[in-house]
Amino acid sequence: MTTYQLVTKARSLALLTFLMFCCLLASAQNDKSPPPNFVIIFADDLGYGDLGTFGHPSIQTPNLDRMATEGQKWTNFYVAASVCTPSRAALLTGRLPVRNGMCSNKSRVLFPNSVNGLPTEEITLAEQLKQAGYATAAIGKWHLGHKPEFLPTSQGFDYYYGIPYSNDMDKAVKKDYWADGDDIPFQDYNVPLMRDTEIVERPADQTTITKRYTEETVKFIKEHKSEPFFVYLAHNLPHIPLFASKDFKGKSKRGLYGDVIEEIDYGVGEVIKVLEEEGLAENTIVVFTSDNGPWLPFKTHGGSAGLLRAGKGTTWEGGMRVPTIFWSPSRVTPAVVSDLGSTMDLFTTFSAMAQVAMPNDRLMDGVDLSPTLLKGEESPRKHILYYRGPEVYAARLGEYKLHYITQGEYGMFGGKEVHETPILYHLGHDPSEQFDIAAEHPEVIEEINQLVKEHQSTLVKGKDQLAERE
Ligand code: MG
Repeated sequence: MTTYQLVTKARSLALLTFLMFCCLLASAQNDKSPPPNFVIIFADDLGYGDLGTFGHPSIQTPNLDRMATEGQKWTNFYVAASVCTPSRAALLTGRLPVRNGMCSNKSRVLFPNSVNGLPTEEITLAEQLKQAGYATAAIGKWHLGHKPEFLPTSQGFDYYYGIPYSNDMDKAVKKDYWADGDDIPFQDYNVPLMRDTEIVERPADQTTITKRYTEETVKFIKEHKSEPFFVYLAHNLPHIPLFASKDFKGKSKRGLYGDVIEEIDYGVGEVIKVLEEEGLAENTIVVFTSDNGPWLPFKTHGGSAGLLRAGKGTTWEGGMRVPTIFWSPSRVTPAVVSDLGSTMDLFTTFSAMAQVAMPNDRLMDGVDLSPTLLKGEESPRKHILYYRGPEVYAARLGEYKLHYITQGEYGMFGGKEVHETPILYHLGHDPSEQFDIAAEHPEVIEEINQLVKEHQSTLVKGKDQLAERE
């Protein structure tokens, strides 16, 4: 071998070694790529049919429509309860409310004179993500206990800005809901607005509250862009009483309810915009969903469940199936997903993505949806339990839903009926729950009975946290 050949060979070897080193470095950096940020945008009493992308004919939601096109739209996604408090507890703990006493047959939600809240022994998603060094914020409605020991700042959130319970509580005047039409004075409701544990405004000016929640979220994202963050943005609207800011009031074809949704949608757009501007979009998972179905007795101030039966407060589909969108460019595989999902799955899914081990000292009710979100695979969730308070009213397995008990709410849809022969619907063929096919499918009934029996055989009900009032 000549000197020239030797030098060339040595150079090639050096180049090869350098390239291998670069590959190793790149893969090491991939392993250390930052865990994703999470933003959950949770609307209050927004119905299945209230977004443009879910078929509403006169409410304009361009930002949510865009998220649905670029990300995943889930058409069979559920909450664990059809009213605020238990639904929120389930999302934040990944557990059925019956396990931690956040549901009751004496009081459906917490009130301003409630004594208790989400037990501090529960592990919230914020506490879970804190183990991986996340900065955490709860912005908006809490409704898991208004006393200091139950507020977000005691439940894993570094920062809180919002109202501690529903926006219609603390009524300051006695008058008919419709007395002022679409111009309800916000002073009629003495709802406090809090920052961390301090009341900063009372009554909260609800006409600008959606706007301010969005601004707080954008600010938090900017301030924490260099570390992993989790924002739980729980808008207190479109729960009645309805309010929209000057820029939105009177603009929607759907009236004030549409104005409210369009302002929320605008805020979603602002969140997406800041993520894109700060170069965070590819590393942030944004989820939009609702805490329960529409509050139908409020007529035009209530939403729509679309083609689903009934609404808030019931275990019919309209009460518990919610419009849900996941977005993260380059991470979430664009699709319309008709498999099952639940808000309780967010705890498990985000824990997996952030590489935080699941708690092993308690039963959890979520599954990891990452294979569906990231690779478009089939959802691992195969069943849904429909609880009302501490009782199972219905269960879904695959496309079949079996009702053991049905009950309306708020003077609508009839009283409590215990069905000696349960009612069976095929939700794929019959999403509006109209045609009972129990007689034709005894084997399906048997299978669902078995599922419920197994669930109940290991169930330890938590002490009722909602009943006690001052
Ligand atoms: Mg609600």
